[in-house]
Amino acid sequence: MHIPFCHRRCFYCDFPVVPLGDRADGGAGSSGAASIAAYLELLQREIATAPSGPPLSTVYLGGGTPSMLSPGQIGALLEALDRHFGLAAGAELSLEMDPASFDQQRLAGYLAVGINRVSLGGQSFDDAVLASLGRRHRTADLLQATAWLRQAQARGGLSSWSLDLIQSLPGQELEPWQRQLEMAIGQEPPHLSVYELSIEPGTVFERRLGQGELELIDEDLAADLMELTQQRLSQAGYGHYEISNYALPGHASRHNRVYWSGAGWWGFGMGATAAPYGRRQARPRTRESYADWLASKWAPAAATQASEDDPEHGEGMAIDERWLVGLRRREGVNAAELAAAAGLGAQELATLRRQLAPFEQRGLLLVEGERWRLSDPAGLALSNAVLRELLAWWPAGPAAGH
Ligand code: SF4
Repeated sequence: MHIPFCHRRCFYCDFPVVPLGDRADGGAGSSGAASIAAYLELLQREIATAPSGPPLSTVYLGGGTPSMLSPGQIGALLEALDRHFGLAAGAELSLEMDPASFDQQRLAGYLAVGINRVSLGGQSFDDAVLASLGRRHRTADLLQATAWLRQAQARGGLSSWSLDLIQSLPGQELEPWQRQLEMAIGQEPPHLSVYELSIEPGTVFERRLGQGELELIDEDLAADLMELTQQRLSQAGYGHYEISNYALPGHASRHNRVYWSGAGWWGFGMGATAAPYGRRQARPRTRESYADWLASKWAPAAATQASEDDPEHGEGMAIDERWLVGLRRREGVNAAELAAAAGLGAQELATLRRQLAPFEQRGLLLVEGERWRLSDPAGLALSNAVLRELLAWWPAGPAAGH
């Protein structure tokens, strides 16, 4: 579920967000309160009118900065999901939170309404880096936030939590990055997400890059940074279960695993993508167009047409996409199964393998019977190159590729 509100837009971010200003706290009477209330009303209506489905085993409230919503507002969204679908026993209920957007009392409030996992947008323990990213919080806020999360976990109110870091930033070098990793490990997060910086259209970073004010690191250094991350985190006991995700035993995110497995999920809110029965459906990315889209869905004329959300009309996730998400996971894909699902014969699968042979020869792609996976860390570090080659081949494959 997408909660789009943020204090300000970070320089690298192209998510559909609504900046409310640095001083907005989302509370009653604050400048953003009316915007938030109006949006929550739309979300409630979207949930209430969704087709029914099985109880939810995981809920992820992401953003944006969902911790700008009060515990009462988060609780009301969880109640709406529970009323409509039901929450499965032991469901993982995750909330994305940003340092400096909550205090200990607010955290306790979220746990009281059912949140049992937190994903903390830390990004860096270096104030200069945080400033260069356009982040609002500073290292002291991050350290305070991780201390509160550790305490909440120790008291049993929080099952797990994750810390986000960004890697391969302009000017990043191995030694300072190692210090960042040590700081992160020192906070004892059960789960770590380490994302590679990517430059997205329309962001401040893209403009600065175009004006020559930003210099990206080269591919070799990026691969070395990833290798360092993988080695240091694995020494510290973290399993590398997906290209950007590491977890202590028992703390891999259920949400991530469901999402990457190609299983279905609902999505609610502006910019959210739903694929309840495999078929993807993206919502518009601005509040106005999202509101219009919802209104048209509820118009009497629309009710007579087959609903796009109708599970009977599901088409299945694109097969090439299943390759992409599968190869980013440590366990890789069952190539024979995916080929069969796409209507490919053994001969075509062999052609694809020949196409990817240079990667196999370099030990980046491992073919173990029917299972194809990328080696860790070398293959995962160069996953984009492997995936580009795979996609370049794919349209030449049979039309039944989707
Ligand atoms: S806080 Fe997160 S969602 Fe909001 S602008 Fe920054 S990166 Fe984007």
